[in-house]
Amino acid sequence: MAIFDFFRNRRKGAPSKCAKCGEFHDKLPAIGFTTPFYYEVLNETDKARMATLSEDFCVIEHEEQTDRFIRATLTLQVNDACEDLDYGIWVSLSEKSYDEYAAEFKNNTAGKTYFGRISNDIPEYATSTLELHVQVITKSGGLRPELVPYESDHPFILDWQNGITIAEAEKRINRCKDQSG
Ligand SMILES: [Zn+2]
Repeated sequence: MAIFDFFRNRRKGAPSKCAKCGEFHDKLPAIGFTTPFYYEVLNETDKARMATLSEDFCVIEHEEQTDRFIRATLTLQVNDACEDLDYGIWVSLSEKSYDEYAAEFKNNTAGKTYFGRISNDIPEYATSTLELHVQVITKSGGLRPELVPYESDHPFILDWQNGITIAEAEKRINRCKDQSG
């Protein structure tokens, strides 16, 4: 299974008209992690024995504890282009939050907030992004929840606060494409 998917680049036909500049140009693909890091590191036997994975949910049953994850999105603002860079990122939730989110998943309401911890290690950063604390804010209409990080001096959170350049965004997309082969 590929580590990354690109969930907005399968658009068919010509580029659509940009809402910001009125020009026709391609959208940036989003970088999506297909599984939580903690799933990826299991061997094949343990994946089959301990884990349940779908596109939006993952549960890993260790002997001493059960870990629960959902897939969400996080947006880095791109300062010198129309498009922002979206990540598809897994976060861990408490049992209570996970159960409530899962129960309401098909007709969820917008604006519910859960506490989560980032469960993917984004490769651009020397310091791991695992376990960074985030607010998980639900959206309606079957959209994945949006992550809003808590304040931190981690470089990823500083990028979320300050934005990145289009050159940096394209570098990240190309690097993930190389790894997703
Ligand atoms: Zn534009």
